[in-house]
Amino acid sequence: MRRLLVAGNWKMNGSKEQAEQLVTALVQGFSGSDQVEMVLCPPTIYLDQVAGLLNGSAIGLGSQNSSEHEAGAYTGETAPAMLLDMGCRYAILGHSERRTLYGEDNALVAAKFEAAKAAGLTPILCVGETLEQREAGETLAVVAAQVGAVLARLGNEAFAEAVIAYEPVWAIGTGKTATPEQAQEVHAAIRAQVADSNAQVAERVQILYGGSVNAGNAETLFAMQDIDGGLVGGASLKADDFLAICQSANG
Ligand code: PEP
Repeated sequence: MRRLLVAGNWKMNGSKEQAEQLVTALVQGFSGSDQVEMVLCPPTIYLDQVAGLLNGSAIGLGSQNSSEHEAGAYTGETAPAMLLDMGCRYAILGHSERRTLYGEDNALVAAKFEAAKAAGLTPILCVGETLEQREAGETLAVVAAQVGAVLARLGNEAFAEAVIAYEPVWAIGTGKTATPEQAQEVHAAIRAQVADSNAQVAERVQILYGGSVNAGNAETLFAMQDIDGGLVGGASLKADDFLAICQSANG
């Protein structure tokens, strides 16, 4: 049985004060669970502050991005080892906003994935199709290429100690959610693709759904066989909503 994971992607939102209020409320409201792990992914600049607030709590920490390089002359970048040093366990990689707005392609995302794993972080690889690709019937091929780039680079242990997040681009921040059946179809295809290279890893890897998850739709999504939690944007900025989503994962 896979444990569920619910990760909050704050994106570029918040302030020191808001981070303190939000994290304090989440620490008070979430005492830990055997069934679900809660992870917060604040902006890099607030990682240290949030790590301090989370100290001793049951809530984990992750970054929203991570460099493909170990160290050196890469102005503005953050190395995986630095994120680990700040207390991160996870790194979101290949989020659709980074793919679309910052030109990250499958090859770069795979390089970041490799560097993150080498440093000891658990990557959360984001994959997903645009609306045009879905309407053209290309969803499974697009997602397979995104997952395949990582398998090609790292081999059949790629997704051991890693997480995949299926996030249809048309559902991110739009209020439109994939139906549980639409999401399950893609999740099952991803797991089958991983199983083709390593059945044991496929059985263990957590595959999260992301795209307008909220307190009202989380339970039915998380009830699907191959949906192992969620990657949550907007609703992770409100303590009550995020706590309710994690509560849904508790079953
Ligand atoms: C995300 O940023 O990964 C995301 C899924 O956002 P939202 O929940 O706001 O759609």
